Amino acid sequence: MSEINGLDINAVKESFQAALKKVTNLEELDDIRVRFTGKKGDLTLLLRSLGKLLPELRKQAGQELNKLRDEIEHTLDITGRKIRESQNEKTEISERIDVTLPEKGRSFGAFHPVIQTMHEIANIMQGLGYSVATGPEQEEEFYNFECLNVPKWHPARDMQDTFYFPDGTLLRTHTSPVQIRSMLKYGAPLRIICPGKVYRRDNDTTHSPMFNQMEGLLIDKDVPFSVMKGTMSEMLNAFFGKSLKYRFRASYFPFTEPSMELDIECVECSGHDEHCRVCHGTGWLEVAGMGMVHPNVIRAGKIDPDEYNGFAFGIGLDRMAMLKYGISDLRLLFDGNVSYFMSGFEGGESRC
Ligand SMILES: [Zn+2]
Repeated sequence: MSEINGLDINAVKESFQAALKKVTNLEELDDIRVRFTGKKGDLTLLLRSLGKLLPELRKQAGQELNKLRDEIEHTLDITGRKIRESQNEKTEISERIDVTLPEKGRSFGAFHPVIQTMHEIANIMQGLGYSVATGPEQEEEFYNFECLNVPKWHPARDMQDTFYFPDGTLLRTHTSPVQIRSMLKYGAPLRIICPGKVYRRDNDTTHSPMFNQMEGLLIDKDVPFSVMKGTMSEMLNAFFGKSLKYRFRASYFPFTEPSMELDIECVECSGHDEHCRVCHGTGWLEVAGMGMVHPNVIRAGKIDPDEYNGFAFGIGLDRMAMLKYGISDLRLLFDGNVSYFMSGFEGGESRC
């Protein structure tokens, strides 16, 4: 039997198979599912019409129709699975990463010697319990001078030729304003280092209008002078990787009292070469200015100088980098001549 009430079972089967051949994706397959087994699908209509058949025909027709329904559903399932598998395969191929391919190559960079120096010294000081503090490069006169015990009339302002902006602000001449800002922000006790760029009207073989400084400040109760000396020698020995000789010379800075300058033994010749290009035969190198913080400066930081004292130091990071890496001309640090650094520093190998 192939016909039920004028509906042809074979015709439905054939049209299903024909439609199936054209299917390329899951959406189309779903359309076929609806067309044959949906509420108004061809097969569904056939099944519904069974009830109108004579009882003696109904059994056979029912069996045939049920068989066809099972076939159709099975085929739809199998086809759906195949389509999904083939789609997954395509996705896998298109998104496959060949881990055996050689890398495309990349350009290597390196930290600038001054930045390396800054990192190294900061690491050493952090090991001694100091935190890194920063401040603006465009600074107010108040923080750059007034708070540091350098009022307008003070002759020390002549020591630092300053770049001023029309609005009266300036490019900071030292990292010391960060001391004030940090005292105001954090109070006492305090241990900070402040690395950064500073600016002065200077430009020759040993001076640049922009250079890098690192300031250190320790504020606590009853800080003895010896702690400052110990801290400086600890830092410099660690930085240069050897135990150096030190010489402290009395000096003057408005923001410290007493003030000193620190010389270290020549890292190149240790004082044994009278023609040394680094120390010019003196055997000593100036590396830092420092002193016990002036009570006026502590007061400007809103800390009571009768209760707290401390010390501050400033070192030139460019000079440190030159000494450590054997660079003879300060300007080489700033002119962007990368090949110079890539081919080894002037005068032979670096000492790093
Ligand atoms: Zn020397």
